[in-house]
Amino acid sequence: MARILVVEDEPAIALGLEEDLRLEGYDVDVATDGETGLEKARHGTFDLVLLDVMLPRRDGFSVCRELRRTGVTTPVILLTARAQEAEKVLGLKLGADDYVTKPFSPMELCARVQAVLRRAAGTAPEVCRFGGMEVNFTRGELLRAGRAVDLTPIEFKLLAVFVRSRGRVLSRGQLIEQVWSKETYITERVVDTHVSNLRKKVEPEGEPRFIVSVRGIGYRFDG
Ligand code: CA
Repeated sequence: MARILVVEDEPAIALGLEEDLRLEGYDVDVATDGETGLEKARHGTFDLVLLDVMLPRRDGFSVCRELRRTGVTTPVILLTARAQEAEKVLGLKLGADDYVTKPFSPMELCARVQAVLRRAAGTAPEVCRFGGMEVNFTRGELLRAGRAVDLTPIEFKLLAVFVRSRGRVLSRGQLIEQVWSKETYITERVVDTHVSNLRKKVEPEGEPRFIVSVRGIGYRFDG
């Protein structure tokens, strides 16, 4: 199931998008200002970002530029209020993949979403390597010496979040937010249990080398 982040400050539009996309079978998260949207999108666990241009705290162009500058390649569809040519061109220049002009119909939007997701899936598989292992995000697989390592779906999601946030400290709260659905209640102890299980599968013997504990905060991936 593709995960879509909606960054939209108008509650009615955000809610409408959320409902339409859920009905299409997507997993949806919503941010209502640019800073929050950037923070969520930057962790890179989304397959697509629907990004409004006019947003409080940071506009959509700036969010898009910042994502691309920091190497986040998640497809972005801009939601522009005006059908202005200059705005569209600027958006695409800043790294957006497509744009939809408001007001749009749910059908039009879903068609664009599908097209962009299809295009993204058709590009080279997104792969990341560390310590002799290869994470294939497209296939949702971890390979060691070419052979699949048996991970649970939660362990894979956890690993994906770590790998994509390489070098950054993640609190247990951030991990809960990014790995589990909003409907699930997860304690920090549960996070530790899954991290410990994941370590058994990816770490060599002895002290963890890749998923490092950061005392009092959480974990950092040093692959
Ligand atoms: Ca807006």
